Amino acid sequence: MDRLQPGGAATGGGAAPAPAGAVTPEAAAQHPDAALVVVDVQNDFCPGGALAVPQGDQVVPVLNRWIGAFHAAGRPVVFTQDWHPSGHVSFREQGGPWPVHCVQGSPGAAFHPDLQVRGTVFRKGFAPDREAYSGFDGALAAGEAGVRPEVTLAGWLRQQGVRHLYVGGLATDYCVRATVLDGLREGFRVTVLVPAVRAVDVTPGDGERALAEMEAHGALLAAGDAGEAR
Ligand SMILES: [Zn+2]
Repeated sequence: MDRLQPGGAATGGGAAPAPAGAVTPEAAAQHPDAALVVVDVQNDFCPGGALAVPQGDQVVPVLNRWIGAFHAAGRPVVFTQDWHPSGHVSFREQGGPWPVHCVQGSPGAAFHPDLQVRGTVFRKGFAPDREAYSGFDGALAAGEAGVRPEVTLAGWLRQQGVRHLYVGGLATDYCVRATVLDGLREGFRVTVLVPAVRAVDVTPGDGERALAEMEAHGALLAAGDAGEAR
């Protein structure tokens, strides 16, 4: 994969120059067509959850800085939420690949308690017989548990004048991958915040392969300091 790495001469103390390919949340949020998309940062996908992504909780502080910057700049922030009825087709008991997870209204479906959920929530996977990895299969959240199926993510983003998505969350090789590829297909420019994603890695290397695939389809990979707290 052609991920950009820091280069150039080392500086004698102080902050190193930003590597090519790096992007700060404050700079990204200045773009009048930018939106932040936070994918599935829910308890069941974090350590201790039903379908834990290794180190999944480590995306939270990184994303909180992005959320803060976009919020301060008045740019849209979207949170996707896996939101399954009991007996969902993706569950093993129904012949699907996954343990029971993110059941509507359960603690596991709630966002990570440290995540600053300030923005607009889109729920996905709410139809019992339909899997939905992509946020673009979601619908606007309505009330405690419902959705407004007529409000799609792509339509909502376009209505806000958004053309460029900055995407982080869980998991690199499933819902982040699907959301990024759909975003590109919908005509958005997409930057993947590499320090703000983690992979399931059912097969070792799945996460890296997913990043390479997203890049091959035109996504930009923000490497290096994509907003880590220092
Ligand atoms: Zn799910």
